[in-house]
Amino acid sequence: MDMRLPFSTLPHRPSGQELVRTAGFIDGEWVGADRGARFEVRNPADRTLVAEVPNMGASETRRAIQAAVAAFPRWRAVPPAQRSAVLRRWHELIVERADDLALLLTTEQGKPLPDARAEILQTATFVEWYAEEGKRLGSSTLPVADPTRRGWVVREPVGVCAAITPWNYPASSVAKKLAPALAAGCTVVLKPAEQTPLTALALAALAELAGLPSGVINVVTGDGSAATEIGRALTDDPAVRMMSFTGSGEVGRELMRQCAATVKNLSLELGGHAPFIVFDDADLDLAVECAVKAKFRNSGQMCVAANRFLIHADIYDGFAARLVERVGQLEVGPGVVPGVQLGPLIDELAVAKVARHIDDAVALGARLLAGGKVHARGGTFFEPTILGDVTDAMAIAHEETFGPVAPLMRFRTEQEAIAIANASEYGLASYLFSRDISRILRVTEALETGAVAVNTGSFTTEAAPFGGVKQSGLGREGGTWGLDSFLSVKHVTLGIG
Ligand code: ADP
Repeated sequence: MDMRLPFSTLPHRPSGQELVRTAGFIDGEWVGADRGARFEVRNPADRTLVAEVPNMGASETRRAIQAAVAAFPRWRAVPPAQRSAVLRRWHELIVERADDLALLLTTEQGKPLPDARAEILQTATFVEWYAEEGKRLGSSTLPVADPTRRGWVVREPVGVCAAITPWNYPASSVAKKLAPALAAGCTVVLKPAEQTPLTALALAALAELAGLPSGVINVVTGDGSAATEIGRALTDDPAVRMMSFTGSGEVGRELMRQCAATVKNLSLELGGHAPFIVFDDADLDLAVECAVKAKFRNSGQMCVAANRFLIHADIYDGFAARLVERVGQLEVGPGVVPGVQLGPLIDELAVAKVARHIDDAVALGARLLAGGKVHARGGTFFEPTILGDVTDAMAIAHEETFGPVAPLMRFRTEQEAIAIANASEYGLASYLFSRDISRILRVTEALETGAVAVNTGSFTTEAAPFGGVKQSGLGREGGTWGLDSFLSVKHVTLGIG
């Protein structure tokens, strides 16, 4: 394992407790790629080399699956209270090492350190939640009409699960899959995003330290081109019974197609295009503060990011002016610098997409109210941007931007706002601001999204079901619902003669 890494601030720990792992994790062993190939992880703030990790492919993935297959009967047989104890220990270790994990996350992902720390603590909370929830997986008895029979239903782990995670939440996206999978008694092969494998490997190292048996979690790392091969190996193998994916709709659809061959269970968290609706009776100060959160957190690189600001025509100018003023105060810079609120975008491709959305909107008549170009810092830093007079004809009104651009649109009536909000192939999150309770109820009921946030700019909690309708995905993560994807139900009938 290469420890020549620029993490001078990470305290040195006794052997076996280092957080920075530059090897894959298969069957309890930290291993390189079969052919010794490695790929680079770079810091998005300055493109410096952070580490090199193994560039694995199909053969390593197949071995990881075999390890998960072998571990499954043992892990499912561990009494739930003992599985829970391991998860709880994992949770404690994540909390203990929160500062180190946050620094690692910021170094490979870019978000401001306080946001990275918040993500790590949320990661720990998800693990804690499922440590508890796994103890409560009871069975139920059925009312049976025939007096010579009894019937009941048990919930069982689906088996070996594949987990593929994105770079925008490199820690919490892992916990939302692995914690319920382990609590349910499943074993897992995880493929983290190529941009952010180190956070996932660090979490696996802490799971090992927490006493998780070999083979229960396996982590296969690979670069962008290896992702297809690893994905294929996971979807082709009939031993993998479930695929949990968070990422783009394009890849989600492809994985869904691939999983059809062996009829796998699926959980998909795909894109979003959240409407952020502000009615004329809303608290404008609150709406502006929440708009900043819902749009610019993580530099807008969130599937729940507001991607269409629908503002009532009577308050449109006031809202726009206040948002421009507030956004002008946002500090852009490297995530490790105190006070920074917007880190860099993940890579050049992300910058290109943001620039394309802005150029297209401006060409079609949108007005640039703030920002609009790469930040003076250069690289992948981008100015927080506000576009006014956005219309339905513009790409930004339909495509996910995944960047710090707030497009403002006007509406006049409640029906019009609902119609614009629902005119999307996505249905993940929506935000609405109003002080009229009847309107809140009417609009909440009409919105076609998996979550509605009313008078607030954030809503993530481990207790709630998170997921989309329409093309935003299938299944839910979080809460009691988050376990369902990892469980199958078995109906048992007993004839008693
Ligand atoms: P993004 O565009 O946000 O990077 P992706 O959907 O491309 O989203 O990536 C999300 C995750 O899916 C990453 O871990 C990535 O490596 C992985 N991935 C990308 N393409 C494939 C594929 N064909 N099969 C399996 N996984 C893939």
